[in-house]
Amino acid sequence: MAEDCLFCRIVGGQIPASIVTRTDDVVVFRDINPQAPTHLLVIPTKHVASLNDADASDDLGRLMRAAVDAAKGAGIAESGYRIVINAGENGGQTVSHLHLHVLGGRRMAWPPG
Ligand code: 5GP
Ligand code: ZN
Repeated sequence: MAEDCLFCRIVGGQIPASIVTRTDDVVVFRDINPQAPTHLLVIPTKHVASLNDADASDDLGRLMRAAVDAAKGAGIAESGYRIVINAGENGGQTVSHLHLHVLGGRRMAWPPG
């Protein structure tokens, strides 16, 4: 846990969030500023600052699996959805705790902005 990290504080319950599911390793919660009818965030419970710091076999596989399960649970798996990871400044990352966006419920544009 990083003391000054917003998402670590959500994991720890110090900041409220609309939690969808949680396990020992992964928390899924609703984005506070949704960009689609369904907009979930999937995060590791341990502090991982960005995609650059993720362990391939462990973090990424588990998080991707959880993101797909979250899409299925939200009922958007059949209609289609998008999983996004913003990494670093040019990637648009604003919270320095690894998170996957799961977006669905509307048609997505391409290319992304
Ligand atoms: P990023 O821009 O780093 O890829 O995504 C950060 C996401 O976290 C944004 O979509 C933003 O709306 C969301 N977010 C920021 N602060 C909070 C918060 O306090 N609670 C929740 N649920 N989401 C947050
Ligand atoms: Zn953190």
